Amino acid sequence: MIEKALPHIVQAEPLLFENSSPGKKGYQLPPLDVPSVDPAAALGADNVRDEIEDFPEVSEVDAIRHFTRLSTWNYAIDLGLYPLGSCTMKYNPRVNELVARTEGLAWSHPYAPESLAQGSMEVIDALERALAEITGMDAVTLQPAAGAHGEFTGILMIRALLERRGTPRKRILVPDSAHGTNPATASMVGYSVENIKSNDRGVVDLAVLEKAATEDVAGLMITNPNTVGVFEENIRKICGILHDKGALVYMDGANMNALVGVARPGDLGVDVMHLNLHKTFSTPHGGGGPGSGAVAVAKVLTPFLPSPRLKREGDFWKWNYDLPDSIGRVRAFYGNFGVLIRALAYIMAHGGKGLRQATLDALLNSNYIRTLLEPYYELAYKAPSMHECVFSDDRQAKMGVRTGDIAKRLIDYGFHPYTVSFPLIVRGALMIEPTETESKRELDLFIRAMISIAKEIEENPAYVLKAPHSTRTKRVDEVTAARKPIVRWKPSLAASQAAD
Ligand SMILES: *Cc1c(COP(=O)(O)O)cnc(C)c1O
Repeated sequence: MIEKALPHIVQAEPLLFENSSPGKKGYQLPPLDVPSVDPAAALGADNVRDEIEDFPEVSEVDAIRHFTRLSTWNYAIDLGLYPLGSCTMKYNPRVNELVARTEGLAWSHPYAPESLAQGSMEVIDALERALAEITGMDAVTLQPAAGAHGEFTGILMIRALLERRGTPRKRILVPDSAHGTNPATASMVGYSVENIKSNDRGVVDLAVLEKAATEDVAGLMITNPNTVGVFEENIRKICGILHDKGALVYMDGANMNALVGVARPGDLGVDVMHLNLHKTFSTPHGGGGPGSGAVAVAKVLTPFLPSPRLKREGDFWKWNYDLPDSIGRVRAFYGNFGVLIRALAYIMAHGGKGLRQATLDALLNSNYIRTLLEPYYELAYKAPSMHECVFSDDRQAKMGVRTGDIAKRLIDYGFHPYTVSFPLIVRGALMIEPTETESKRELDLFIRAMISIAKEIEENPAYVLKAPHSTRTKRVDEVTAARKPIVRWKPSLAASQAAD
């Protein structure tokens, strides 16, 4: 039985063009009280556009209803659980939005002189200090625009430090359980990437690492907890192995939702890391919206931080550009400021205790799902789960149903799918991250939906293979949809399709 609201309440909705009727208007203007001018005479005939053919003509209410109905085709965190693993799709408290709309902050301009930007600079400083405390690192930059950009910034700093030492080195080690952006980043900075195989518990194999960590290794990029949702329990030893060879440790901290208030990477030996403020620190994300990939560094790397840095002179904040070792700017201005305000509001509203509780709740929710789904889905690794749990489709694949099919059927149950086929080290992965913001009731609905799908697969796999059944658009050919998308409506095309 489907217990949640069905997706796509409105199934059929023509284009605004198709709703058009000649002469309809969405506005009313008072009579003209100045002499009217012939546009062609005033601007020159060449500069005046002809009548736009087939332009939609609708009333105000037609337009409002059209767009409101279209909005029912979207899924959002404000509608329900969004268990996309690795993405930390948590509910974003409205109080953060209220703070971000504070007039002085919302209207502050990056070109404003320092004397008029003291409040904004104070916000940046307060957030940098809070994140340094949370990560146990020495300093933080808020310039990078997203997680992968933070990685790029961090690896550039490692390269700058090693070049300064006179040994730039050639290779970066990346465990096979790392996020895909890690090897991409290392390669963009000019390093060759060496893959480190995980052991059967889903964590870095120390013996393999020891062998790979030679004198030409610049560093290790490690995602912790890694993409199978397992904490790298040997992280101190791992850092030791790298440091003994004069190499550095980059930690991908996008999964910090599992650690905030419980463990600090700086205390574990990490040299540089990024945080995804748009994940862990609850600023809205998705659809490629603005993010923030704050980067935290240990003392050895502080001279290389992007320029400019804040500095205090008497009672004033100033921007310091006099940083000879800096890698330079990585972004115009000082980061995505609106995101920074929301993250600071979130941290201050929770305080240390509240942030720790959020972490514990995230772990509890993920382990609750793991425990109740284990009888129905194959658990990829038996090691304890952190904030997300990863299953494989091994059992369902025997019936010809794969992770992507299960995800599509989940849409019929009113949920956004989990992350499909990632991480790559798990064949047919189902990666589920509920986050701390979900109630037991919402988790139970999700678990019941997943169990129900597992049973459907036993009884009628063909039905699941054709899912989704309740959405406006049925299953699309994903390759064609991605490679040859039709994103523009043309009257001639519509007419020829109707004729078919
Ligand atoms: C999301 C994520 C990234 C990339 O972050 P973006 O902000 O999307 O660039 C990197 N690593 C991990 C583990 C992630 O979950």
